[in-house]
This record gives sequence, structure tokens and C-alpha cells, in this order.
Amino acid sequence: MPQELLLQVTPEIAANELLLKEHLSKQLKVSVNEIQHVSILKRSIDARQKTVRINLKVVIYLKGEPFQETKFQIPDYKNVANAQEVIVVGAGPAGLFAALQLIELGLKPIVVERGKEVRGRRRDLKAINVDHIVNEDSNYCFGEGGAGTYSDGKLYTRSKKRGDVTRILELFVAFGATPDILVDAHPHIGTNKLPQIIQDIREKIIEFGGQVLFETRLTDILIKNNEVEGIVTQKGDTILANKLILATGHSARDIYELLDRKEVFIEAKPFALGVRAEHPQSLIDSIQYSCDYRGEHLPPAPYSIVKQVNGRGMYSFCMCPGGVIAPCATSPGEVVTNGWSPSKRDQATANSGIVIELKLEDFKPYAKFGALAGMEFQKSIEQKAWDLAGQTQKAPAQRMIDFTQKRVSSEIPKTSYVPGTTSIEMGQVFPEYLTQILREGFTEFGKSMRGYLTNEAIIHAPESRTSSPVRIPRDLYTYEHLQIKGLYPCGEGAGYAGGIISAAIDGEKCALMIAEALK
Ligand code: FAD
Repeated sequence: MPQELLLQVTPEIAANELLLKEHLSKQLKVSVNEIQHVSILKRSIDARQKTVRINLKVVIYLKGEPFQETKFQIPDYKNVANAQEVIVVGAGPAGLFAALQLIELGLKPIVVERGKEVRGRRRDLKAINVDHIVNEDSNYCFGEGGAGTYSDGKLYTRSKKRGDVTRILELFVAFGATPDILVDAHPHIGTNKLPQIIQDIREKIIEFGGQVLFETRLTDILIKNNEVEGIVTQKGDTILANKLILATGHSARDIYELLDRKEVFIEAKPFALGVRAEHPQSLIDSIQYSCDYRGEHLPPAPYSIVKQVNGRGMYSFCMCPGGVIAPCATSPGEVVTNGWSPSKRDQATANSGIVIELKLEDFKPYAKFGALAGMEFQKSIEQKAWDLAGQTQKAPAQRMIDFTQKRVSSEIPKTSYVPGTTSIEMGQVFPEYLTQILREGFTEFGKSMRGYLTNEAIIHAPESRTSSPVRIPRDLYTYEHLQIKGLYPCGEGAGYAGGIISAAIDGEKCALMIAEALK
């Protein structure tokens, strides 16, 4: 019988199949030649002790024991060209996985996406980075693949639904992602690999009779007697269907405004907000791995940190080892930061959002906007950052210790944020009570992670698109909107997901609920 083992090995052994077999041969007291194959089931880094070790869960197949490589296949879809139509608005992870699931269930998705196809987006990303021009339909948040396409592609989630998570990861592998994502404790794909996967998903949707319409923005939802009848696009076209998955992401402010105008029930939702901090990756490696040089077998180190300051959580968010800070505004006149990494995470800097959890009471100054109060609060910070940094895509920036000591940095070195930075006192961007939490929080972070609080670290503002500032409420069991029949609020924009995997899971769930309702 193949034997399952838990073991702890050096990074060098974990990275080399032959060394691993040699290690196991000693442990099992068999010759190396006797070991036919070693399958890694789980892999994680243990950096708690002085010497970093890799934890592995493996299955060992000795000669003569049956072994077959697992192949993850794209499901056996049937053509749905003539099936009942369901409109899916948004081609982010929620929308795309909803569309795949609809096909699997024998329904025809019509995917409507305001942005361009995944490769066409690149020109607009260059324009925002280099020319400071924001295309309101095609940017880091909008376009095929959604907000997660040009990202770090981290695929871990706090979701407890392990079966659902595994299903999405296996689908990613079937569509071309490395099988490593199935075993790593903190899997990621990388911004260079995601576009091809996204393109292959779209091609599959079309091959099996679905439709995908790019540069098509939903501008109105046709509703009669509290039931969806279809949608209108910016081209003036009408698409009729009485089931609509609304998966437009957390940055589609026009969608929230539309729903508010139409008196479709939505509510303000707390989110988190702060700055994006950038350190030299080598510094983070030395803190996390307790070493001067991480060597060639360990990946660039991530970090995750959380503190309670003045009764609020302040924590790292969407940390990108070996990554780059990206300009993620979706409208002119605002600055927004976030981060991405290539699959090798081989850039010289590590960046992370460092954010504070907000409460509904923070939005009181914007109470007149009702359900949109949090969104207006978010907008005001992004617009202030734009004004303070010189009304371009340059980001307000400050050295970390200078920030904690309320001192404007005399100069800001070049950071990975391509549009550039303007040195300002960061306290001007945020309300005083949030600035105070950030100052104290960074001091606390420096105590837990020795070396973290340094003037080599540069903070950029703001990190403001952490999750949706609005919830589009739906029934707990049917996933249908509480007031409008046929409307399925979905993914991060509806307030039911945070991250690629949970958005994809939510997309699948909405599709399943629609199939259930149609029975
Ligand atoms: P979105 O991905 O936001 O997709 C919504 C789609 O709807 C967009 O394509 C948009 O163009 C479209 N749309 C909006 N309005 C309309 C309209 N009116 N008509 C038609 N279409 C419309 N998450 C992770 O898990 N790991 C990461 O490493 C990671 N890194 C990130 C890095 C960056 C730079 C950014 C911006 C986000 C990152 N995220 C990451 C977050 C992740 O991308 C989102 O959580 C996820 O994409 C949400 O999926 P979604 O499908 O719900 O919405």
C-alpha cells in the first residue's frame, strides 16, 4: 500500500526530487531505486524556528504499487446555445465561474463586460501608469478577468468551505494553472500567468454556446412589478432575460448609484482603509526567515500582521512579496493603490496594504447619501490624495518612521509605483483619528516584526478598495435579492466575497441557485 507521511525537511531537499527520495529512502530504510514516485499532497513553510523548514505531506509509491498521475479535466460541458438565457454582468472571477457553472447546468450565460478583453486591457494599464490617463471602463479593476487579473493572484481564502475551494483550484489547474496551487499552503498564480487562463475560460464559454460581450456596460436594469425583465447597455441595446447575476465588483460605483436611484434595496457596509507600505524584499526575508540572505530555495517571504489599536483592527491586506504597487483608480480625479506580483515574485520590493477596519459610524459625515455614505467617504479620501499629490496619478508618500513622527520626508526614493510619488505628511489624507491609529499601529508592528518600522519603508496612500462599501442584500437561502425577483447579487461587489477564490465560489453558487429556481 502506498504510504502517507508527514515530514519536515530543508528547503533544498523540498525543492529537489532526488534529494527528497534520498531523504525518504533513509527514513523508510529502502533503496532510492525502490521508490517509484513521491506525490506531494501539502507543502508549507515553517519559519518559526531559527532554521527555516518545509513541512510536507507526501504519499510514497514503492516499485510495483499502483500509481497514476491525477489529471484535472475541464468538465464535460454540453452545448447551451439554445438553452434558457441568464444574463451575467461582469467578467471577474464571480461572473466567469458563474458562466461556467451555468453551462454545466445546461443554461446559456450572456456575459456582459464593460471592459476590454484581457490582452486589450494592457494598453490602458500602460496609459494609467505612464500617461496618468484613467479609462473608466478599462483599468486594473475593470475588464476581462476583473480586478484579480493583473494581481498577485493569491488563491488563499478564509473560506471554510474546503470542498468548494478545492473545486475552484482544480478548475484553475484544468484551465492551465500549475498543479502546485493544489498543494501549497499559500498558493498564487501571478500576473503573467492569469491572462492566458482567463482567455481560455472565455473561449470555453463561447465554444459551448455562451456569449461574451466586451465593451458593453450595463446602464439600466429593466424591472416590472419587482421582477427583472432584462438590461439596457450603454449602446442602447436591450437584452431580455428574467434571471440576472450582478457581479460587477466593488468599484462599480455607477451600479450602486443606479440601484439607489431605482430604489432597489441596498445598504452601506463597513470596509477597511489605509495605506500601501513598501519595503525592500530582502529586509522582509531577513525578518521572516531570521537570515541575512534567504538563499535560492526559499520563496520571497510574505508577512501577515494584525494589531488592535484604539479598539480597531489594523492589519496587512493583500500582501505581495516581490511585487509592484499599482495605480488602481477607476475614474479621473482620484488616486487608489493596490499591488501585484509576477509568478516568480522576483521584484526587489515587498508591498502590502496596511488597513484599519472602519465602522458604519465613520460614514456619519456623509449620512445624507444614505446607503452610499461609505462609498462617498471612500471617494473623498481618494480625491483628497489626488489633490494633495498634484492632481495626477502620483501617490502621496512618506517614509514610515517620518510618518510616525509627523515629519514630512525630505525626499522619497523611487518606489515600484510607476506613476511616481509626492512627499506629503500623510495625516492630511485621512481623518485625524485614523491617522492616529496608523501611527500607533506602525509602532506596534515594529515591536512584533523587528526591522519593519524603518525609514527604508515607504507608505503610499490610499489603500481604499479593500472590499465593497455597499451590500446588495439577498436571501440567505435562495441568493435572490430581497426585493427584486430574478436579481442575484453576486461576488465582491454585492458584499458576499473578498478575493478571487471566494468570488468564484459565490459565482458558482448563484448559478446553482438559479438552476434550482428554474426547476
Ligand atoms: P471583479 O473582479 O471586480 O469583477 C467585476 C467585473 O464587472 C469587472 O470586470 C468590471 O469591469 C465589470 N463591471 C463593472 N461594472 C459593470 C457594468 N456596469 N457593466 C458591465 N460590466 C461591469 N484577490 C485575491 O484573492 N488575490 C490577490 O492576489 C488579489 N490581488 C489583487 C490585486 C489588485 C491590483 C486588485 C485590484 C485586486 C486584487 N484582489 C486579489 C481582489 C480580487 O481581484 C477581487 O476580490 C475579485 O476580483 C472580486 O471578484 P468579482 O468577480 O466579485 O469582481
